[in-house]
Amino acid sequence: MKLFEYQVKKILGKFGVNVPQGEVFLTLDQARNFIERMGEGVVKAQVLTGGRGKAGGVKLFTTPAEGISLAQNIFNMTIKGEKVKAILIEEKIPIEQELYLSLFVDGRIKKPVLIASQAGGVDIEEVLEEQILKLPIDPLIGLRNYHANITAQKLGLAGDLAEQLTALLKKMYEIFQAYEAELLEINPLVVSRGKLIAADGKMTVDDDARFRWPSDLPFNEEKTLLEKRAEEIGVSYVELDGDIAVMANGAGITMATLDLIAYFGGRPKNFMDAGGGANAEQMAKALDLLLSTNPKAILINIFGGITRCDEVAKAYLTVKNEREISVPVVIRLVGTNEEIGVSMLKEAGVESFSSLREAVIKAVELSRVGRDN
Ligand code: GDP
Ligand code: MN
Repeated sequence: MKLFEYQVKKILGKFGVNVPQGEVFLTLDQARNFIERMGEGVVKAQVLTGGRGKAGGVKLFTTPAEGISLAQNIFNMTIKGEKVKAILIEEKIPIEQELYLSLFVDGRIKKPVLIASQAGGVDIEEVLEEQILKLPIDPLIGLRNYHANITAQKLGLAGDLAEQLTALLKKMYEIFQAYEAELLEINPLVVSRGKLIAADGKMTVDDDARFRWPSDLPFNEEKTLLEKRAEEIGVSYVELDGDIAVMANGAGITMATLDLIAYFGGRPKNFMDAGGGANAEQMAKALDLLLSTNPKAILINIFGGITRCDEVAKAYLTVKNEREISVPVVIRLVGTNEEIGVSMLKEAGVESFSSLREAVIKAVELSRVGRDN
């Protein structure tokens, strides 16, 4: 789960990291007084997606009137599909230097890694490899002074600033552990009047550790409306941006189906792992959900193991009899009781495939027809 900047800064502040003074607002009216009192400052869109600054979601103001108009503009923004629902108004920090600092879990080496660079304020992906320090940290040893010393050297910080950096890194590591973070990023970390200040903050925490998250960790809903509906039905669902709706039974087979669709030049509209649920009621709900997304075609890919093909056929036919399905549906059915299932479908005039390849090609073809119309 990702945290909003204002939530990260609250945590940073609690652990003693310097953050700009500021407040978060949900409406322009609530922000007005604060902006008038500040006179000048920064307005920042609060969104979970990256690249906000570039998209115009961070603006400096030098008069209250300018601040209010900028705040209004930013409230009306949608950044990479995410509607701005909150803004953070902060004091303006005079910037002498912008640095980059982060901790993240590197799954390949199974360790936290400390990343630092003098090139702060830009995406780390755009920084040259040789300008980046990557220090793996042994979790049994933790973050020590020598890590901080190496980092200070790379960042060109000496004396009091180097000491501040040491203290900051230890706090970051403490937060990283306490919240089971996957990422904690400060970009830019600003040098301002002899102080290190976190001008921005990003943090991602491990959803699987939710049962033991610290109690002050907020919960941010990242699921779309459709994804929430799917959760209620009990199927795993992820929205994609293609036009072929997919239903399969099992995460692996679903992924393979999506890959094949892409391979044959089609675009999947979703990931849906309907699990072993062959019962008519659940299948009806899952199909309704797919139909509500207005796909060009629906591809159902069932490999019957415990799930029996005749049950699947029965479920599909029940649904088909109950409602108007105006979208072409391609069914691939193999496994337990395959012959019974296939002949049930055939009797009802529904063609099914045993080859996934053929089924996918058919679905892609049908989605094309729909597209040209
Ligand atoms: P991001 O683009 O979404 O990562 O947004 P940031 O919070 O990192 O802000 C982008 C840039 O805006 C920073 O790199 C700074 O150059 C500038 N900026 C942000 N806050 C301040 C501030 O308080 N004072 C000044 N002068 N510049 C700021
Ligand atoms: Mn940033």
